[in-house]
Amino acid sequence: MSNRYQVPDRFTAGAQYIGGRLRPGTSEHTQRVVDPATGETVLGYAAAGPADVDAAVAAARTALPGWAGATPGERSAALHRFAAVLAADAGELARAETLQCGKPIRLSTEFDVPGTIDNTAFFAGAARHLQGQSAGEYSGDHTSYVRREPIGVIGSIAPWNYPLQMAAWKILPAVAAGNTVVLKPAEITPLTSLMFAEAAREAGIPDGVVNVVSGTGREAGEHLVTHPDVAMVSFTGSTAVGKRVAALATASVKRLHLELGGKAPFVVFDDADAEAAIQGAVAGSLINTGQDCTAATRMYVQRPLYDRLVEGIADTMATVRLGDPFDPATDLGPLVSHAQRDRVAAVVERARSYAKVLTPGRAPAGDGAYFPPTLITGAARESEVVRNEIFGPVLVVLPFDTDDEGIALANDTPYGLAASAWTRDVFRANRATREIAAGCVWVNDHIPIISEMPHGGYGASGFGKDMSTYSFEEYTQVKHVMFDNTAVARKDWHRTVFGARRG
Ligand code: NAD
Repeated sequence: MSNRYQVPDRFTAGAQYIGGRLRPGTSEHTQRVVDPATGETVLGYAAAGPADVDAAVAAARTALPGWAGATPGERSAALHRFAAVLAADAGELARAETLQCGKPIRLSTEFDVPGTIDNTAFFAGAARHLQGQSAGEYSGDHTSYVRREPIGVIGSIAPWNYPLQMAAWKILPAVAAGNTVVLKPAEITPLTSLMFAEAAREAGIPDGVVNVVSGTGREAGEHLVTHPDVAMVSFTGSTAVGKRVAALATASVKRLHLELGGKAPFVVFDDADAEAAIQGAVAGSLINTGQDCTAATRMYVQRPLYDRLVEGIADTMATVRLGDPFDPATDLGPLVSHAQRDRVAAVVERARSYAKVLTPGRAPAGDGAYFPPTLITGAARESEVVRNEIFGPVLVVLPFDTDDEGIALANDTPYGLAASAWTRDVFRANRATREIAAGCVWVNDHIPIISEMPHGGYGASGFGKDMSTYSFEEYTQVKHVMFDNTAVARKDWHRTVFGARRG
């Protein structure tokens, strides 16, 4: 364990990044960041209290006119430099992410960090392509055009499963469009969000444009969501907390963007490439130790392939190497926390009474928050493992008979974030992509995301889009500007008030 990342001393002094510098929080609550692979505390910090949120919002407000007034070219240049700084810091960011989340270093190095850099480079380009409708004379007497304007100070709240990428997804489209941001990362994983904000400063993005308050949802999150100077709330997290955030934000008529939970179906039709479905199901359910809102969790297999796939998945899961996340040979690290491991273990224990747990499905002895890949069959449609988000390395497999039934089962949940359909038949694939209600439907794959394409849910998975230029719809507002072209005092339409009288 000697090669573990050491948290830099500067974070011991403070884990609030406000107006371009780190400072301690003013809450009486000390928050711990724990390495889930060992159970050791790697950082204790004074959490953000309401006064820190107020200071961060004030810094963001002060920075707003200058940043909103910068040209798209200037914002783009700063974001290009930002991408370069992140690329130079890539190794450190990956190690810090692995330390606080327990995710395998291979995942941090090959997915989280390059994804973040690519997102930054994407928004550097996209910043110059914010579009309004073209101008024109839509009434004979006027010229109209549309201005696309930033909204103001954005209050963003992020979860712990991909802290760096979530910071990027929340901050980049907002600042590319000229807003300023106060981000509250999950209190157990603030490190890489703070480093991301520091990198923004190093790239020359003005102080106050990006602020990070590290603290709990109740103390810092709710104060941010209800703050009168926050114009929009962008939340990624569970549906339960999302509902509370929505209620709080709505009371003060704030714009809202919600990226919530998921329970992604993985539907395999009987003509599918069985080996591809096996590999895809194991990778798609175990990525990030299953703590992925789009992870494959409910697998529906058409009856002729069912036995073969269950056997193949169990065999493939048995080859997955559980271990120290800093070891490049490790496939599956611990869950993010011991609390999360215990929640997952309890769900699996309860499942033993109503379904079959085919793999060992029990946490190994030791200090780490580990839980092995787990495969469950024979669960009823309405059972907990089929209906609720588990957020662990657990895959439930169920059979179906007709195509109609497969698609109906895929839609048999209030969630609608992502789904996949596995078939070699173009008509089946086309029907599944049309009829499955989710913000993303993959065909013959499950998980990949790209900066150019939108990510966001249907139904209880929320509304609004991250990534891609679609995210600008969230972080901008459109203004209609109308010029009179007649230059006369008594306009034609004044007849509705004055009748035919001359002015
Ligand atoms: P969570 O809902 O418990 O917490 C998310 C964030 O909200 C954290 O920063 C937390 O401190 C904060 N929070 C908690 N209570 C709050 C309150 N009352 N007011 C304001 N903020 C509050 O979620 P989590 O456990 O951190 O993350 C896992 C969840 O996130 C899963 O449900 C997962 O599906 C979801 N998620 C969704 C997406 C997506 O794109 N749709 C992406 C990643 C994670």
